[in-house]
Amino acid sequence: MKYVRFLEDNGNEGYGILKDEVIEVLDGTPFDKYEITSRCIEKEKVKLLSPSLFSKAVCIGLNYRDHAEEFGLPIPESPVVFLKPSTSVTAPESTIIYPDMCHRLDYEAELAVVIGKTARNVSEEDALEYVLGYTIANDVTARDLQPKNGQWTIAKGFDTFMPLGPYISDEVDGSKLMITSRVNGETKQKSNTSNLIFSIPYLISYISHVMTLLPGDVISTGTPGGISGMQKGDIVEIEIEGLGILRNTIG
Ligand code: MG
Repeated sequence: MKYVRFLEDNGNEGYGILKDEVIEVLDGTPFDKYEITSRCIEKEKVKLLSPSLFSKAVCIGLNYRDHAEEFGLPIPESPVVFLKPSTSVTAPESTIIYPDMCHRLDYEAELAVVIGKTARNVSEEDALEYVLGYTIANDVTARDLQPKNGQWTIAKGFDTFMPLGPYISDEVDGSKLMITSRVNGETKQKSNTSNLIFSIPYLISYISHVMTLLPGDVISTGTPGGISGMQKGDIVEIEIEGLGILRNTIG
């Protein structure tokens, strides 16, 4: 299944299942019980929204060896974890706002794991049972603010700093997906999620022993090497095999 959240011209919001260019409208949400209604809408006729409104995005820093190396940092012995606020989420095709106080704004292409049911103290063996599916995240970062602040909350927590989408798919194996980012069509990052230092089941288990993961919560698994800055007017695209393209403009 490919789950989407959409907005119609009349202001109506809903969830649906994407099949080619058509959305089958759901009664309910993919994070709870739902039924597939008889109503279908053409994808072109609606605006796609972020497929989840998470209570928290749990993000992993330095989870690709080459990204740690480009900062001259050692490979972490345990996951580096930070949170992005629920207010940072934004839709595919929307504008990432370049904050006035930032002088270097970076993209970070990331595979996002979307939790499907409440997870607390989950074992690594059972972890994938709690996953609804996967989507694409851009862990947008005010890079110049990152070292100024003892924590990463300011550098990564601005409104619009978590583009998510375009859909959640349960049809892919998150452990081996090509991941690419482009700015204005030029390839910037190219890797594979098989290069993750801490695996997805390990991360779900580890995090769920600290905080309860709720349906819709997102674990953003870290970015590969190749980060750089963006300017106002740039178009940033992140593509992950089987998950489509997450495209946003900087404004
Ligand atoms: Mg990141």
